[in-house]
Amino acid sequence: MASEANSSTGDGVQMPEIKFTKLFINGCFVDAVSGETFETRDPRTGEVIANIAAGDKEDVDLAVNTAREAFDHGKWPRMSGFERGRIMMKYADLIDQHAEELAALECLDAGKLFLLNKILDVPGASNMVRYYAGAADKIHGETLKMQGEFQGYTLREPIGVVGHIIPWNFPTVMFFFKVAPALAAGCTMIVKPAEQTPLTALYYAHLGKQAGIPDGVLNVVTGFGHTAGAAITAHMDVDKVSFTGSTEVGRLVMEAAARSNLKSVSLELGGKSPVIIFDDADVDMAVDVARKAIFFNKGEICVAGSRVYVQEEIYDEFERKIAESSKNWIVGDPFDAHVHQGPQVDKKQFEKVLKYIDHGKREGATILTGGKPCSEKGFYIEPTIFTDVKDDMLIAKDEIFGPVMSLMKFKTIEEAIERANNTRYGLAAGIVTKDLNIANRVSRSIRAGIIWINCYFAFDNDCPFGGYKMSGIGRDGGMHALEKYLHVKSVVTPIYGSPW
Ligand code: NAD
Repeated sequence: MASEANSSTGDGVQMPEIKFTKLFINGCFVDAVSGETFETRDPRTGEVIANIAAGDKEDVDLAVNTAREAFDHGKWPRMSGFERGRIMMKYADLIDQHAEELAALECLDAGKLFLLNKILDVPGASNMVRYYAGAADKIHGETLKMQGEFQGYTLREPIGVVGHIIPWNFPTVMFFFKVAPALAAGCTMIVKPAEQTPLTALYYAHLGKQAGIPDGVLNVVTGFGHTAGAAITAHMDVDKVSFTGSTEVGRLVMEAAARSNLKSVSLELGGKSPVIIFDDADVDMAVDVARKAIFFNKGEICVAGSRVYVQEEIYDEFERKIAESSKNWIVGDPFDAHVHQGPQVDKKQFEKVLKYIDHGKREGATILTGGKPCSEKGFYIEPTIFTDVKDDMLIAKDEIFGPVMSLMKFKTIEEAIERANNTRYGLAAGIVTKDLNIANRVSRSIRAGIIWINCYFAFDNDCPFGGYKMSGIGRDGGMHALEKYLHVKSVVTPIYGSPW
């Protein structure tokens, strides 16, 4: 531990004031109909930060009604793309103006590093809003080639009322991954943030109103998954659900959509991503890539490189060097600028990760580093590396969603490809090699939505992002995300008056 986890702000960062704790419906902060609340807690200590309105079915009904009204009769879907983009640009500026406070809120609620929130997550979010703002007036149709004396064209129209259900590991990024393209498309929406991390979503709702987003367009219903989340997925008047979370809940979302109104569903789900390191790699660079790939954001990242395959000639050197380097990976108060890894998001996640570590030991894998909690209070876990891992062990198959790496050896490129693909997931993969032929061959052979060669986590607004196999359906990011929120309509007319 770099510094004792406590309720202070560590590096002199201003502790944020909790301004917004209620549901945001039709432009107003309101209590839940039931009057119920739930606690959101500081993962550094486990102490309560605030009581948040616990939205349920009645609140989702109110939010959907107002979003429906705003879609069917309101200004947002009808205003020009240019005007929507102008309001979104203002929204982005407001996010930047509050970056310090938002970064601190996210740190407090999710245990994510304050400094990275401030230089990556929050400015990344405002830039994402700008990216889609720039696209709002470039949503074009096509001219169709028709046989006979007809002409045709397509219109791309907003899909309608969207329910966005998001997880706790990147509350800011996930919020805008969903909201920014949907706003640009002209949709109206309800966001259901994760119950562990509701604070920044409510703040973003407030900033959206200040920017000029009309009431009813952007609503936030805080609450639990089986209540508020399930009410969104089953709602007859929600046209689309855009979900990011676990594969297990993704399945429930799809079932609910099928049972209700067959709403369109896109899913960004779990992963168990491989990092494949070839003999010719620079070992120091490979260690750096592999270490960040799993320990960044305390391993709470869907694309975490949790299975590391190292070719046999450099395996021993790699193992020695990664063990040494993980000693310099500092776990501690996420407000402290020197810290690399904060606490797991909550007690449940903390216990889940420790259970997997225990299971790994019982299955016969060997702990190379870490393996234990590392503070008396809060939810801190040592960066953990297992060796002697077999592909069929649970720690090599399940998404642990914590700082736990499974390190394995391979001989040939064919073996690496086969073992890397031997998973129900397909979200991401990393390749470390100097050989362009190997990089090309492996990147085309791995069934995953994003491949990083000699890097990891490199990402920008223009990168589509999503899964193969049970990692999901559809893409966030880039212009592909905009498509998710648009219908395509064909319009056909005779060229020279009606032939009939
Ligand atoms: P989760 O599936 O438990 O919860 C995600 C969201 O769904 C939360 O808002 C939750 O309240 C809601 N929810 C839970 N049950 C629901 C139900 N029955 N109906 C509707 N909504 C419900 O996931 P989590 O624990 O919050 O997040 C971790 C998971 O998210 C991991 O599996 C991770 O890989 C995945 N994830 C994926 C991506 C991606 O882009 N592919 C990104 C981040 C996280």
